[in-house]
Amino acid sequence: MRYDFGGTHSLRQERIKLARELLSSLGVLEHPGVREVPAGAGLEEEILLIHSKEYVEAVKASGRNPSGAGWRYMGYGLGTLDNPVFADMYDASALHVGGTIRAGRAVLSEDVDHAFNLGGGFHHASRSRASGFCVFNDVAIVISALLEEGLHRVLYVDVDAHHGDGVQYSFYSDPRVLTISLHEDGRYLFPGTGFVKELGEGEGEGYSVNVPLPPYTGDTEYMRAFEEVVPPLAESFKPQVIVTQLGVDTHYSDPLTHLNLTTNAHRRIAEELHGLAHDISNGRWVAAGGGGYEPSAVARSWTLMFGAMVERELEDRIPDSWPPIYESLLGGKVNVLTLTDPKVPSRPGVGREVERVLEEVRRALSPYHRL
Ligand SMILES: [Zn+2]
Ligand SMILES: [Zn+2]
Repeated sequence: MRYDFGGTHSLRQERIKLARELLSSLGVLEHPGVREVPAGAGLEEEILLIHSKEYVEAVKASGRNPSGAGWRYMGYGLGTLDNPVFADMYDASALHVGGTIRAGRAVLSEDVDHAFNLGGGFHHASRSRASGFCVFNDVAIVISALLEEGLHRVLYVDVDAHHGDGVQYSFYSDPRVLTISLHEDGRYLFPGTGFVKELGEGEGEGYSVNVPLPPYTGDTEYMRAFEEVVPPLAESFKPQVIVTQLGVDTHYSDPLTHLNLTTNAHRRIAEELHGLAHDISNGRWVAAGGGGYEPSAVARSWTLMFGAMVERELEDRIPDSWPPIYESLLGGKVNVLTLTDPKVPSRPGVGREVERVLEEVRRALSPYHRL
């Protein structure tokens, strides 16, 4: 919650608390087999697995004196409209890193199959630059930490509406990390990358996979694209662990994007990933949150995804105790009182457009993988 770009910014971290409170009000956190653990801040040496020392110093210095930062740190992407400088930015960002690292270590070395850090998924940050609301790239950092632990096949799946550029380019020439990002086509949405031809380079060629989807792609077309690409690649790559960025700004109500998914698709995505983890990576699944700018949709989607992760059918009706929490954190009224959404009609023609994208993906990947 201290990761706070200010009251007029699109990123409302209250959404994380809302998701956590919704899980709690449904009793999910008390299920046998579910543990909630404190995170603690990520260490600087962990942050330095991905980021440069000079950038880390810039994050520290600018957050010590946000009002005096002005233009000084713009070269690091700090002090922009997307990434305003805020007090104690380093500590707040390091805490998100610590959460995802904690999730990674739990899955790697403790008696835990899956772990979910709702407060992670900052997939746009690059080595020396903040970008797209992201200061430290916790997902790239955990992948790097897992490689340091000796793993050599990590599958990264990014379902955020925005391309996972920071993670892709962190491992662009590294064949140990297969990155797959499904997102809204970069011609229509930030960050403007994630085209099919971005396939990796050098030894990593063929290990960056992108599925750019047309605006208004709905549940049916999205799941068709997911099924066509993610399970076959996972089966041929045989990852030792699956790391996912579970941004839910693909939701039809999201104010920043133009995809048309419902919370029902979000649950199905998580069910698919869960099945793949058990079938292929010995259950190992490290999940982080990500984008999502309509807070009640975010809370409902992550609750359903968590339910899929722990194999629980959740009561669809939202408990009466939750709306007052929403209202006290964000004001306004909660107008959706079920976890699932009604069906959203597909835009005519979008199915054919998605088929064309899939054909392009199959063709581009054919020298490297069987799809
Ligand atoms: Zn996003
Ligand atoms: Zn499981």
